[in-house]
Amino acid sequence: MKGEEVKRVYLDYAATTPVHPDVLKAMIPYLSDAFGNPSSLYSCGREAKGAIEEARVKVADLIGAQDEEIVFTGSGTEADNFAIKGVAFANESKGNHIITSSIEHHAVTETCKFLERKGFSVTYLPVDEYGLVDPHDVKKAITGKTILISVMHANNEMGTIEPIAEIGRVTKEAGIYYHTDAVQTVGHIPVDVNELGVDLLSMSAHKLCGPKGIGALYIRKGTKLIPFMHGGEQERRRRASTENVPGIVGLGTAAELARQEMDEEVQRLTHLRNQLIKGLLERIDHVRLNGHPQKRLPNNINVSIDFAEGESMLLNLDLEGICASTGSACSSSSLEPSHVLLAMGLAHEQAHCSLRFTLGKWTTEEEIGQVLEVLPRIVAKLRAMSPLLTSGRGKHA
Ligand code: PLP
Repeated sequence: MKGEEVKRVYLDYAATTPVHPDVLKAMIPYLSDAFGNPSSLYSCGREAKGAIEEARVKVADLIGAQDEEIVFTGSGTEADNFAIKGVAFANESKGNHIITSSIEHHAVTETCKFLERKGFSVTYLPVDEYGLVDPHDVKKAITGKTILISVMHANNEMGTIEPIAEIGRVTKEAGIYYHTDAVQTVGHIPVDVNELGVDLLSMSAHKLCGPKGIGALYIRKGTKLIPFMHGGEQERRRRASTENVPGIVGLGTAAELARQEMDEEVQRLTHLRNQLIKGLLERIDHVRLNGHPQKRLPNNINVSIDFAEGESMLLNLDLEGICASTGSACSSSSLEPSHVLLAMGLAHEQAHCSLRFTLGKWTTEEEIGQVLEVLPRIVAKLRAMSPLLTSGRGKHA
């Protein structure tokens, strides 16, 4: 390949997305001439303030919220921290019990573990073989001390979409605050805070073709939570710090584009996703689809391929210019198997043999074809070297 560049095939949109050119175009003025501080009263300050409020409306429109219910944050992680710690510390006098699931992103689980160290008690609900939380389990876990329930809308690793609206009926009946981490769904599938019945919802711009380092938390009117950041009076005193104006404008534009393009994108990506799943199951033996076959994100493919180690497949794909993932990007430097796949009942070996492809705006049919051509070859090569197979342990049951 001397002198020839390998064309990159990016299939890791759940880790992060490229910034949409229209998003970048909308952001640029706020990185140059329109640089004013939104708290300043002169015109370039007022211009920045106006841009923030316009973006707030666009974000609210995407999720069926009112604009004053949107607070901009520094990331999806910050939105999760704000929701969970904010509600926990503001409602401590009512109780100290939190319910969540065992497949949440670390932004939620590590926040819950922190709260456990501060005297809160947390129930981590199990999931079934597809990664689904059972709303009956939520109901059974509620005690007189439960103050918050947090269940993610869709899982970042295996794409299963959780029964958020059904759980919402349980939380409403019990009068308990309800948060969902919707970082992987906002902009990808329809999200309506009233249909879902949530009080708090987290999102992150860099998952929907917006920039990194900007997110938002939806806070239903009347929700009691304490601010996470202390300082100035920005964001109606709910999030101190000079606003990231270009980032907010980027998120607003990304939200608007996602709303316009969603129906078409859901159909297009579902077709490509199904094509890739079908092709992998046909061309490689001993492949298992992880996550729910239907209740899954239109862009997510997660498979376990027996006797082919995830990290090795990843590195070999990279040599062919294909970017994929073995699980959550945040933990990909760790060799621990995914807590999500283990919670679904996969054996350690199966979890180690997992591979995730997540599709997006610029994914083409040709790229899917490329994966289907390259991956069977890689798997055959790795299996030929697999100590599990050569030791005889690997007889396929
Ligand atoms: N929650 C989920 C489900 C995610 O997938 C991610 C990012 O991977 C986050 C939260 C964290 O978002 P951010 O990277 O904006 O902090």
